[in-house]
Amino acid sequence: MPVADHATYCEMLDRARKGKFAYPAINVSSLTTANAVLKGLAESRSDGIIQVSTGGGAFASGTAVKDMALGAISIAEHVHRVAERYPVYVALHTDHCQADKLDKYVIPLVEETERRRAAGKSNLFNSHMFDGSALPLKENLDIAIKMLERFRKNDLILEIEAGVVGGEEDGIKASAAAKLYTTPEDTLEVARRLNGVQGARYLLAATFGNVHGVYKPGHVKLKPSILKDCQDAVVNKYGEAARFYLVFHGGSGSELHDIHEAVDYGVVKMNIDTDTQYAFTRAIADHFFKNYDGILKVDGEVGNKKAYDPRTYLALAETALAERVKQAVKELRAAGTTMMK
Ligand SMILES: [Zn+2]
Repeated sequence: MPVADHATYCEMLDRARKGKFAYPAINVSSLTTANAVLKGLAESRSDGIIQVSTGGGAFASGTAVKDMALGAISIAEHVHRVAERYPVYVALHTDHCQADKLDKYVIPLVEETERRRAAGKSNLFNSHMFDGSALPLKENLDIAIKMLERFRKNDLILEIEAGVVGGEEDGIKASAAAKLYTTPEDTLEVARRLNGVQGARYLLAATFGNVHGVYKPGHVKLKPSILKDCQDAVVNKYGEAARFYLVFHGGSGSELHDIHEAVDYGVVKMNIDTDTQYAFTRAIADHFFKNYDGILKVDGEVGNKKAYDPRTYLALAETALAERVKQAVKELRAAGTTMMK
């Protein structure tokens, strides 16, 4: 089946929140990693989300070009073609984009979707994140509202962030003084302003101590109850229709009880990057250590072409990443939930 259209994606998110499960949103940066996600989702009979970060997009365009939007377009076009061969729906999303990168990343991608729509084609991406978490909330929401108005006209969903995800991703490091826990007051302000854009849809990355990356036990203190406090506050003030669709950033390395609690409070999308990066590389390392003599030309020998052909170890890595996706699907209670008939 092709990439989910807007109506299907909306229904996916509705079903997840109602059914208390969530979709894994996996970062990819190449054809192989994108194929791995599709394989893992298909084998789990779960729909899901493939996402591209600014750094992933730049990488995908090639080290000589380094154009984040071009690389993201290239990956998305690949997924549009191959997704038809998998029996699940996948949505395409772009990850963190700070205000100073909007003109280089999200805006060109929205323009690409606008061109496609004008030509009677489907959207390129289903949703994009604007990460204004480093800005004061008012400025963050001023930008978000403008984007949301444009997104509504194009059947795009906006993801925003209130509060700050700790740790480091794509070379962007959260400051030590960052606000790692979103407050109910912040989320009420998000609802007050964004819900005024009639007919638009957005996802909210509210932070509850999450960090990007994986740390030893004890380093990260997740407080999923913050999500419940935020949901209770918004439903009390604005009614059930205002309940948020939440995003869990920094899902890698999280404990199962925290994942389940967060999903119970309305998380519908959990981002995973570090754990899938590790799964991919772990399989390659395994192959290299086991086939050292064949991969390297040692002592005048010629090596073993089968061992060093990149397809050999990239196929192993693809399968290993797919297995990690299957684990995520299970942890998010999404196994078997595909809307594909
Ligand atoms: Zn994130």
